[in-house]
Amino acid sequence: MVEIKTAAELEAMREAGRVVARALEAVRRQADVGVSLLELNETAAEVISASGAKPAFLHYKPSFAPTPFPAVICASVNEVIVHGIPDGYRLRSGDLLSVDCGAYLDGWAGDSAISLVVGQADPRDLRLIGAAETALGAAVAACVPGGRMGDIGHAVAGVARGAGYGIMNDFGGHGIGRAMHEDPAVPNRGRPGRGLVLRPGLVLAIEPMFVAGGGDAYLTAPDGWALSSTDGSRAAHVEHTVAVTEHGPRVLTLP
Ligand code: MG
Ligand code: MG
Repeated sequence: MVEIKTAAELEAMREAGRVVARALEAVRRQADVGVSLLELNETAAEVISASGAKPAFLHYKPSFAPTPFPAVICASVNEVIVHGIPDGYRLRSGDLLSVDCGAYLDGWAGDSAISLVVGQADPRDLRLIGAAETALGAAVAACVPGGRMGDIGHAVAGVARGAGYGIMNDFGGHGIGRAMHEDPAVPNRGRPGRGLVLRPGLVLAIEPMFVAGGGDAYLTAPDGWALSSTDGSRAAHVEHTVAVTEHGPRVLTLP
């Protein structure tokens, strides 16, 4: 069922989104050569806890996963597209890092992701991240009353295909509210003018996942969580929680 949020509920979701944004900004500041993924996880956990919020990913077990997620952030390095489990790996110069984070504040969820390069960046990686961010911006702009779900996916896919990047199969965005994952699904491909009509109070997590090598397929790691490109090429993932309002799109996960 697709839930429509009231104005007061959107304000509560904005506060949850702010916590996630603060956690991701702290991770972005800390991410550097020699810093471990577990240290970044600890930073996000501290920001969420200090905000009186609860991590949304910790112990989360969706149907596709064999075990509950053991951390506060997903930390996906280089060829890992999404759902990387943070471990003792220390970042090296040139690594492309995607960080996904979710939190609950006063019973409302926020969900957002960033991608960045540590140390000396390969311009190709910066282009990949830039394309994912451009796609996210175009998809956010499509979140207007009377728009359709297909407009969002069309916006994301248009940027990916135009740049020759793959779009991960099977995974996309989602509705969000009292639960992190709600209806409706928000695919990263679609036909303009088709699908669910977007109404004020609809809140969506939009999350382009781009693969440099151009393929849409992925490999699942032995841990059952980390999903990687099939050709070893790099991937970028960015995400915002966005409300459709009478005044247009409102991004709830900005700092
Ligand atoms: Mg997320
Ligand atoms: Mg999400």
